[in-house]
Amino acid sequence: MWNSPKVGILGGGQLGRMLVESANRLNVQANVLDAENAPAKQISFHDGHVTGSFKEPEAVRQLAKTCDVLTAEIEHVDTYALEEVASEVQVEPSWQAIRTIQNKFNQKEHLRKYGIPMADHRELVKNTPEELAEIGEQLGFPMMLKSKTMAYDGRGNYRVNSKADIPGALEALKDRPLYAEKWAYFKMELAVMVIKTKDDVLSYPTVETVQEDSICKLVYAPARNVPDAINQKAQALARKAVAAFEGKGAFGVEMFLLEDNSVMLCEIASRIHNSGHYTIEGCALSQFDSHIRAILDLPIPAKSLEIRQPSIMLNIIGGATPDSHLKVAEHALSIPNASIHLYSKGASKPGRKMGHVTVTGPTMHEAETMIQPLIDVVDDIRA
Ligand code: ATP
Ligand code: MG
Ligand code: MG
Repeated sequence: MWNSPKVGILGGGQLGRMLVESANRLNVQANVLDAENAPAKQISFHDGHVTGSFKEPEAVRQLAKTCDVLTAEIEHVDTYALEEVASEVQVEPSWQAIRTIQNKFNQKEHLRKYGIPMADHRELVKNTPEELAEIGEQLGFPMMLKSKTMAYDGRGNYRVNSKADIPGALEALKDRPLYAEKWAYFKMELAVMVIKTKDDVLSYPTVETVQEDSICKLVYAPARNVPDAINQKAQALARKAVAAFEGKGAFGVEMFLLEDNSVMLCEIASRIHNSGHYTIEGCALSQFDSHIRAILDLPIPAKSLEIRQPSIMLNIIGGATPDSHLKVAEHALSIPNASIHLYSKGASKPGRKMGHVTVTGPTMHEAETMIQPLIDVVDDIRA
């Protein structure tokens, strides 16, 4: 019998907001922990929300008291608070999974034990130019210097082209725990949304992601001109990587497709993910629907994860002026088959994700033709 479960969500940004949309349709109350007017709270009126931050233990404790299952829309949460409340409330995915994944170096050390292919990397322990120069000798140039923690949208990455870039790189990422990665010469970036249920690891099809300045700009679902063998290989790799973690829910897996058609892991997110937004219009169950079902042990028919129509998702990112993103949204109103999602985040800043648009079409080519004018507008307003 349906027992009207309550879900607590750490974080009320756009991912939390879209999760609330899915929860609402199943009569599931979603209690959001975030600031007063967070995007997820704006669309959900009840007295179960908690004001505060997902980094404050007391606020996490308070949220735990209000719900049957706790989940997170972001991996940068206080996992010690989650560990503490795990004895009284179900935490999905597990606090151990979130703790390991939120540190990209630990995540990779963990996945290495499961034989997941990834770029060779080295930990920095002293963060000195000498240490990084020696790592550069080992990995070769260019290499990517990365923050282990608090990384998102490329904020935490620095491309080191040669020895001469080392002081600038260490300055840009100063006071952060670091590791360096060998450069991946990819021909395409791929992503797969994986749904871990109580007894299964399911996956959506392989999509193609296009990053600009390390921020996701476009997602093509399915990945264009990628043979089925690679699509299956990427899904299998993504499922294998996610199976290495405990707990239920959606995981976003980013990968590189290399020149020799091998697939390598870029990183995992322990949550719903930008590369899966296309599923709202493209599939019978969106990644948000599946996440809610997975954490509540509700059925997820594998067929509902298939792509119904080729889909293209374009992010609406803050541009040169405070209203640049609104110009994109306004233009999108006239694009055929375009579904617009604005996140109501308030002030726009260059590089801030303010919304997205998904266009579906009978063929990928038709979807590409319909969305091209909007891509032109986006390129025009770039900061
Ligand atoms: P996200 O917003 O997805 O969490 P992030 O800040 O955690 O991003 P990564 O996903 O590690 O950062 O890297 C962002 C982008 O930088 C990748 O999608 C890819 O385009 C590029 N990149 C990362 N690592 C490498 C590498 N080793 N070689 C080449 N390019 C890389
Ligand atoms: Mg990341
Ligand atoms: Mg990434």
